[in-house]
Amino acid sequence: MEKIIPYGRQYLDEEDIAAVVEVLRSDYLTTGPRVIEFEKRLAEKVGARFAVTFSSGTAALHAAYFAAGLKPGEEVIVSPITFAATANAALYLGGVPVFVDIAPGSFNIDVAAIEAAITPRTRIIAPTDMAGIPVDIDSIMEIAQKYNIIVVEDAAHALGAFYKGTPVGSRAHLTIFSFHPVKSITTGEGGAVVTNDASLYERLLLFRNHGITRSAQKFINKNAGPWYYEMQLLGYNFRLTDIQCALGISQLKKLEQFIKRRKEIVSIYNDAFRNNPAFTIPAHSDYVEPAWHLYILRVKSCLDRNKLINLLFEQGVGTQVHYIPVYRHPYYTRISPDPEAFPNAEAYYRECLSIPLFPGLKEAEIDKVINAVTACSKILMDQGNC
Ligand SMILES: *Cc1c(COP(=O)(O)O)cnc(C)c1O
Repeated sequence: MEKIIPYGRQYLDEEDIAAVVEVLRSDYLTTGPRVIEFEKRLAEKVGARFAVTFSSGTAALHAAYFAAGLKPGEEVIVSPITFAATANAALYLGGVPVFVDIAPGSFNIDVAAIEAAITPRTRIIAPTDMAGIPVDIDSIMEIAQKYNIIVVEDAAHALGAFYKGTPVGSRAHLTIFSFHPVKSITTGEGGAVVTNDASLYERLLLFRNHGITRSAQKFINKNAGPWYYEMQLLGYNFRLTDIQCALGISQLKKLEQFIKRRKEIVSIYNDAFRNNPAFTIPAHSDYVEPAWHLYILRVKSCLDRNKLINLLFEQGVGTQVHYIPVYRHPYYTRISPDPEAFPNAEAYYRECLSIPLFPGLKEAEIDKVINAVTACSKILMDQGNC
């Protein structure tokens, strides 16, 4: 069988490979200069004062919630239309994910519904920039300020996106990114938290490294010598290696180019599908510039989406459903058992379909995707269920 075009994949070139090989020949495989350099460049790129890298985006979320001071029993407001990790990270700390529905016609949390979900136990609002489309972070920060809540923006999809002319990463208290191969840039596995707050930054550093500090000016006990270090809280080994950070530095140089290519493909797809009665194309406010992690069509609910997925697969076009609402996973039904409380997420879940979108997608592949999606949707429309 011919090769399936995946919904997403990494783009690596010889420069990336050379950067990694150089580290393999150097003195530091981890906790070395590449980590510091990647963090500096990432912070600059997104307009934040500090960046701390982590072994994954999930570890970055865990650390961000820890830095925000999440205590057992306290609540984290999340969208159900996100990767499970956004909610899972609250559970790691004994916190409670509280789902707030998405807005109609949007992939993102309904900002107007957030306030009603706030209780005296709410510690964090963690909105996801779904598909790389930034949430209305100014409005969310305003709500957070009113109730003294920390905002952790899950921008795993949104490195390279802009909100009101500034990069995503510069406005929330804490913003997390992921460097998984399908995301804007990759380090294999990897993630980061960015912040403008020096005390949050210190907590992130401790959490990443067993809760241990080697900085003499931060010691609680007496400095017993140049070899001395202190464990001050219970942290983890969530470090990203120099091997990975070298790849991150090299990939970050290509971020604009990657996002530009994603935008071009989105524009070609929009033109191809805008007038197709089977679909609704993605929409966003004009004050955001998405990073376009995913191209998500909403398939008319009178059509059989599974049949469409199967037909497309037969034609070599891979697709995916992003995401199963988190509350629907068996593990979560005990926490939030009633899908009917989320009518917009439910409608979205019935209709969403991600088709291939990544910087390395070739012209011939774009044509193939468009032709297959157009032909297969016509087959379904002709069956007359609409
Ligand atoms: C990918 C992703 C994560 C987790 O990142 P990993 O690097 O895979 O651990 C978290 N949230 C969202 C929305 C993601 O897409």
